[in-house]
Amino acid sequence: MTERLYYTDSFLREFDAQAISCEASGERFEVVLDRTAFYPTSGGQPHDTGRLGDANVVDVFDREADHTILHVTDRPVLPGAVHGAIDWERRFDHLQQHTGQHLLSAAFLKLFRFPTVSFHLGREISTIDLEAPSVVPRHIEEAERLANLVIFEDRPIAVSFREKEELAGLGVRKQVEREGTLRLVGIEEFDIQPCGGTHAARTGQVGAILVRKIERQKQLWRVEFVCGARAIRGARSDFEALGAAAREIGCGPAELPGMVKKLIEEGKRANRERGRTMERVAEFEAQSLLARGEKIIVHAFDEGDAVFVRRAAATLAKQPGVQAVVASRAARHFVFARAEDAAGDMNLLLREVLTPAGGKGGGTKEFAQGTVPEAANLDELLARARERMARENT
Ligand SMILES: [Zn+2]
Repeated sequence: MTERLYYTDSFLREFDAQAISCEASGERFEVVLDRTAFYPTSGGQPHDTGRLGDANVVDVFDREADHTILHVTDRPVLPGAVHGAIDWERRFDHLQQHTGQHLLSAAFLKLFRFPTVSFHLGREISTIDLEAPSVVPRHIEEAERLANLVIFEDRPIAVSFREKEELAGLGVRKQVEREGTLRLVGIEEFDIQPCGGTHAARTGQVGAILVRKIERQKQLWRVEFVCGARAIRGARSDFEALGAAAREIGCGPAELPGMVKKLIEEGKRANRERGRTMERVAEFEAQSLLARGEKIIVHAFDEGDAVFVRRAAATLAKQPGVQAVVASRAARHFVFARAEDAAGDMNLLLREVLTPAGGKGGGTKEFAQGTVPEAANLDELLARARERMARENT
């Protein structure tokens, strides 16, 4: 059983201990100390890193069977006295996120009776999963505001140890399964919770809480949040992204949502207008092909999408007796169409012409369409279609 120095002092950065054992495990070593300030991965909070003598501590875990903490190092640590130092930047970041979680969970419970069922502290963001019928932006704003208010009030956070039986009258936020002596983390007149993690000494050290996202996760609601320096970095990167977008458009960041909406609507309108224009162009192109007076029409347009080719083909097929095969070089799209009174199975013709070239498509006897891969030679395919139609009409 390892004595956990972080239990009573989350701010202990360096300590002296006795190395009891050091066992090789692959290329790493697992070191057991009599006492440690290193936090092992547990309860949703990742482990500390740092140094033991001149060895780097790359992982720390809790062997629950005998309550022993194992320090995974990159080189052996000799038995006897050793000096430990934890990576303070990482620890402080973790205690900001973790304390922020207590505040946010307490705020959701106090304001809306939404209990937190789990917590995860990630490399970039942290999450809590709430049990709630639904979580809407108003819930987020109010819980975030209350949690930040408690941060601004800089309330003390105290650690105490109690027996499980004593918990009933204390109003703990969430029951725990653990038995025996429990470590309680209390935020003055706001929250009390059994927890083994590392926390701030005062709420002010959390800095700020910023909720980033909510999403439904099966029966739960997952709330993403960041605290302290992460909140500042998040707000800074949002501001830069908004600023860059606003400069592109030529407006202020606050006007961005309105401007984006307007641009999207303009884009849709322009697309509809372009669609109508292209339809008229397709009809016009078809009319000029019909003006030649031929009954078999085979033609490739350089430009135009599938809609354009369909429109041109439909216009051609309105003319009595016409059989038409038209394609777009840009879209590699083919339409095989004929007038109601003309002969021939256009779907069959499509398959005969396009399938050998790796093309795909289909339709009816009167109207069929398909596309061909990059490698297919459009002119050869069109020539083959013309040849078949001419042969059947003789
Ligand atoms: Zn905690």
